Amino acid sequence: MGRKPGSTLNKASAIWLAVAVGALTIAILILVAIQLAKRESIESVSVVASTISGDVLRRADGAADQMYEGYRRLQSSGELDPCSDRSIALMQDISLRSSQIQLVGFVANNQLLCSSMGRYRPGIPVGPVDYHSSMGTNVRLSVELPMAPHTRFLMNDKQGFAMVMHPEIPINVMVNQPKISVGIFSYSTGKEIVGRGEFDPKWARLLGSNFRKTLVTSGEVVALSRSQKYDYVAFAALPGALVAARTRVFALVMVPIGLVLGLALTVSLVLVGRQQLSFPAVIRTAIRKKEFFMMYQPVVDLRSGQWTGVEALVRWNRSAGEIVQPHLFIQAAEESGMITKLTQEVIGMVAHDVLDLVKEHPELSIALNFSRDDLHSDETISRLKKLLAESGIHPNQFMVEISERGLLSADVAAKIIRTIRELGVQVAVDDFGTGYSSLSYLTTLDLDYLKIDKTFIDTIGVDTATSGVIQHIIAIANSLNLKMIAEGVETEDQVSYLREHGVQFAQGWIFSQPMTIDEFRTEFAARSRNASHSA
Ligand code: C2E
Ligand code: CA
Ligand code: CA
Repeated sequence: MGRKPGSTLNKASAIWLAVAVGALTIAILILVAIQLAKRESIESVSVVASTISGDVLRRADGAADQMYEGYRRLQSSGELDPCSDRSIALMQDISLRSSQIQLVGFVANNQLLCSSMGRYRPGIPVGPVDYHSSMGTNVRLSVELPMAPHTRFLMNDKQGFAMVMHPEIPINVMVNQPKISVGIFSYSTGKEIVGRGEFDPKWARLLGSNFRKTLVTSGEVVALSRSQKYDYVAFAALPGALVAARTRVFALVMVPIGLVLGLALTVSLVLVGRQQLSFPAVIRTAIRKKEFFMMYQPVVDLRSGQWTGVEALVRWNRSAGEIVQPHLFIQAAEESGMITKLTQEVIGMVAHDVLDLVKEHPELSIALNFSRDDLHSDETISRLKKLLAESGIHPNQFMVEISERGLLSADVAAKIIRTIRELGVQVAVDDFGTGYSSLSYLTTLDLDYLKIDKTFIDTIGVDTATSGVIQHIIAIANSLNLKMIAEGVETEDQVSYLREHGVQFAQGWIFSQPMTIDEFRTEFAARSRNASHSA
């Protein structure tokens, strides 16, 4: 109780749910698109960075190759005096053949004693060694020579033989891109040998034992390429702004794609939702899945106490065994135009459940509830005719209950009721007193029974404003020559009152609640036995 059809079946909320799911999907897709764009741009910037660092490494290795070739030649010359004429001639030859080495010389005690350009007395001071490389060379990172003032050279010496070069040569790449940092640092010491732009000593640690690596640190993309032969690593660092700019470009493509995909998904969700969750679709599915079943409540003869009839009441066993009561779906089925489908299903179920029982007991009648649409539905009427024809049961063992509210639309109802009665089927006006049909209107209808609604039964013995109404209803029924069935009888007092006032039949929990067909059969059989015993 207390649950409205809306709580399980509300179409609008289902569509809102679809919209919400769609919106969430769009948001997620956009986030994914941005993420993808970011990854894509990091990827492409990484490619650029590692191309540059690879280039720097190739240039540095070229210079180092020439340098070590020079050492090899000088050391293997067999000359005892490193500044002899022959040695100097060899130095000249080395520097002339090299595209990278500007000057070849000999250093002792931090002084350049001679070079490919001649001897120096006294020697030219070149300053202390900055570090010793793992290749066995002494490295001076910034040496100024009098023959080339204001120029800083890189000087490497091995056992005194020194190679002097312009440090910029390996890093002469991308010179028109001031935001790109390039350079070389020593692998073993982590010290920058030469570079342009910013250098971070922690890169050496992040490289570990790798020869190539791309790091993304605080938006910046750094590509590292370590030399296979020598003790240094080339680096190229591209700024985060570059990544951001690329991300924007990729996002311009990917976000609209995400948006379109998300929108398409939302629209299809809403469409599918509208279709799937629309009440007619829900009912159709429930019928197909055989989720409806019937319960049966006996109608009792108040004089004899015998069960003379049975009302078929539909139930809905929704998934997970949740039994839905009819007040939660009958009205919705009526409003969505699905009630006739449901009634036809009900007729089928009733036929399956009770035909043999009713056939065996001609004193028993079976009541079906029809809604207004059923009265206007050729399908429902012909389904009823078919039932009569196939069952071979006397038609007056069937009763159709039509709610007073269902009778409101005038003469058509009268005509159809006549049709039903012509079939031999009895007709009851259900829930009498709850609608607004005028008495004169009722007199125009061909009816057999009047069912007094529970709200009036509840007033019996209770002093309320409507207490007197039940007497009027009984009077009306008598004047129209209609038999009465009291609904929702729950107390002995109500039973005695109804009996005393000439009401012939009653239904209610004091006799029995609605039961499954098996329960009904068992109970009915037991009563028939008792009746025949006492007879
Ligand atoms: P109704 O035709 O007036 O049916 C009587 C309702 O009162 C049933 O509720 C029944 O279970 C309940 N009832 C019977 N005795 C007592 C009692 O002593 N105390 C109380 N408190 N209730 C009692 P149910 O089965 O929930 O049906 C509710 C309504 O749903 C029915 O009212 C009827 O209008 C509609 N309905 C049920 N089955 C069908 C059907 O197959 N087709 C159509 N069109 N409507 C149906
Ligand atoms: Ca009824
Ligand atoms: Ca009723």
